[in-house]
Amino acid sequence: MAWMVASANGAAGIDAVFERFCAGELDVLDAVERAAWVVEDDPEDHSVGAGGVPNLFGAVELDASIMDGVTLRAGAVAGLRGFRHPISVARAVMERTPHVLLVGEGAATFARVIGAEPAVLETQASLQAWQRAIASLEAQELRDPLTMVRALTHDPERAVGTVNFLALDDEGRMASAVSTSGWALKWPGRAGDSPVIGAGNYCDATVGAAACTGFGELSLRTQLAARCVDLLAAGADPSEAASRAIGLLRRLDAPSSERIMHIVVLRADGQHGAASTRAGTRYAWRDTSVPRAVLAPRVVVALDGPA
Ligand code: ASP
Repeated sequence: MAWMVASANGAAGIDAVFERFCAGELDVLDAVERAAWVVEDDPEDHSVGAGGVPNLFGAVELDASIMDGVTLRAGAVAGLRGFRHPISVARAVMERTPHVLLVGEGAATFARVIGAEPAVLETQASLQAWQRAIASLEAQELRDPLTMVRALTHDPERAVGTVNFLALDDEGRMASAVSTSGWALKWPGRAGDSPVIGAGNYCDATVGAAACTGFGELSLRTQLAARCVDLLAAGADPSEAASRAIGLLRRLDAPSSERIMHIVVLRADGQHGAASTRAGTRYAWRDTSVPRAVLAPRVVVALDGPA
């Protein structure tokens, strides 16, 4: 058996790699990395890789991380500009440096040194979306950049989008990958949860893996992916672990427009589940019993109730 789980926008990525993963042509790390390539290359996905909506000053900045659940090795990049596959740069950080996280210009220098493929990530559509957003703020007389970034990133319709992949093979090896262009119109240099191991991504093959999408500041403040895996270790099933992890956000001081979180979970025995603060959202999974990725509902967790 083999299993992959993803955020719903990762269904095509799962299907692109699953057969080779099952055949042993791709190991767990290859599977999550190459599945992420599919979404990073999709200009219609405005939250990951090429076509991601730019930051406040018009540049696309990418965050990504990958984790090997057997060794607990991890690699990540944040605020990376100008490369096609941030997930592969993250993997190279893990495999070719003594570091875990490289940021900004240092990450770009590393990407150049290893020969990562450069790419223009800003597309006509994403630049137009950026220009429209800036023009609408200017029309409201909002010109100070700090005021602008608050107004823009507090719009939940603009701020969301990331892809998560979790994989498990028949020998119990696990890996996880997360890739994103982060909050649309974020402050330049802002790193979200996706490149922070424990916050947006965590994988321990003895227990399971979890990854987040949503307002990364919430998962950064709570180390949410790692805490979700801790809940699995304590005996919760995957949906319950995802729901209870999201429930941990109730005590955070955050406006209701920012209380958005989604988690996908894959346990070391192949059981999986997902939860979200929003009704109607789904996640993708595939194992050898189905011919293509299945989209399944996430458990909905209301965050408005008492802590
Ligand atoms: N978690 C991502 C971030 O905060 C964005 C998202 O998933 O919507 O950068």
